[in-house]
Amino acid sequence: MENTLLVVNCGSSSLKIALFDKDRQKIASMLAGRLNTPNARFRIGKQRDATKLPPNTTHKEALAVLMDTAQKKGLMPKQPAAIGHRIVHGGETFREAVLINDEVLAAIQACNLLAPLHNPVNVEGIMATRELFPLVPQVAVFDTAFHQTLPEHAFHYALPQNYYRDWGVRRYGFHGTSHAYMLQQAALRLEQSTAVTSIISAHLGNGCSITAIRDGKSVDTSMGLTPLEGLVMGTRSGDVDPGLFDYLQSKGVSAEQLHNELNHSSGLLGLSGQTNDMRTLSDLADQGDPSAQLAIDVFCFRLAKYVAAMMVSLNRLDALVFTGGIGQNSARVRQQTVNQLGLLGFAIDQHNNDDNGLNRGGRIDCKESRFPILVIATDEERVIAGEAARLAELN
Ligand code: ADP
Repeated sequence: MENTLLVVNCGSSSLKIALFDKDRQKIASMLAGRLNTPNARFRIGKQRDATKLPPNTTHKEALAVLMDTAQKKGLMPKQPAAIGHRIVHGGETFREAVLINDEVLAAIQACNLLAPLHNPVNVEGIMATRELFPLVPQVAVFDTAFHQTLPEHAFHYALPQNYYRDWGVRRYGFHGTSHAYMLQQAALRLEQSTAVTSIISAHLGNGCSITAIRDGKSVDTSMGLTPLEGLVMGTRSGDVDPGLFDYLQSKGVSAEQLHNELNHSSGLLGLSGQTNDMRTLSDLADQGDPSAQLAIDVFCFRLAKYVAAMMVSLNRLDALVFTGGIGQNSARVRQQTVNQLGLLGFAIDQHNNDDNGLNRGGRIDCKESRFPILVIATDEERVIAGEAARLAELN
């Protein structure tokens, strides 16, 4: 249990933790959900039945319960050797992971307004672990950091200059930890160094984003000021016409209601009127459900359009990479998306696609394809554990 690493990921009403051993093998994962509600609960690993927590349990209280449970079950020592936190927004301050001190914490808090749903709870997670384990080094790993290499023409919106100057309105991009991991993994498979690797990485989970990586650097990405822009997602709309705000206001929809609906009732859920779960939508579409089919069609069409758009920033493409729950598992989404990219020379091998590329080291392109197409499993928690160990100098 020596050198156990703790990874903490605080969501708006959830707390996910993962424990890794010194060889970066996952020992355990735990999830507390419905925090700050009367139905707070937690579960260990893939356990079916959740254990109730006291009503209105906070993130800090849940962390104490999870740590106590992990220790009692012999999953971790009295304290971890280092702690890695997933932080959603690092603004323009953080270009890479950092050891947390008071100054860093203040700088993370300064980004709270840019991600009001995420950063304040991320900060709460840091405070809670600091209190529980005051002597343990803590590291912040930012979703935005990998995208700090975006060139100006890619990160600016065509808005009055003072929006950026005074309020930091620009495109930041998210899922950076996953996209950076895709770069590393694709380079390994292609047997070349990351510094000369250029890929398009599509992270398709509940949140979805796509990134163009040129010679190891993020040069364009689909998420913007917030994680709402870009692709169709589970419950998020992705791109809409900003004219929508004015129009819907005239229909009596308040800004707050629209904000909630764009984030929580749109995307696959909104289009299908049934679910945000791609697996369920695929089953429904197989049974001939037209709204499930429409949701999948809009999802794949937007994704294909974005793959084409990402090509603009590259001078060479070593691979198109699919990851995330949908990217890794939905042969249907990959096939339907790639079928719309024939003019650019992408072509899929149906047999290899159907088994997620398992028998060909993740490769799902056919020999006629101009570019390799890869399926790679993402593992953001393991990357965060690795960064925590590196910066705490445990290696
Ligand atoms: P999160 O972003 O919350 O981590 P995931 O990366 O786990 O989410 O992705 C969740 C999505 O992956 C859901 O839409 C789920 O239906 C989809 N998914 C998982 N397995 C499959 C599968 N076998 N076929 C199609 N979609 C799948």
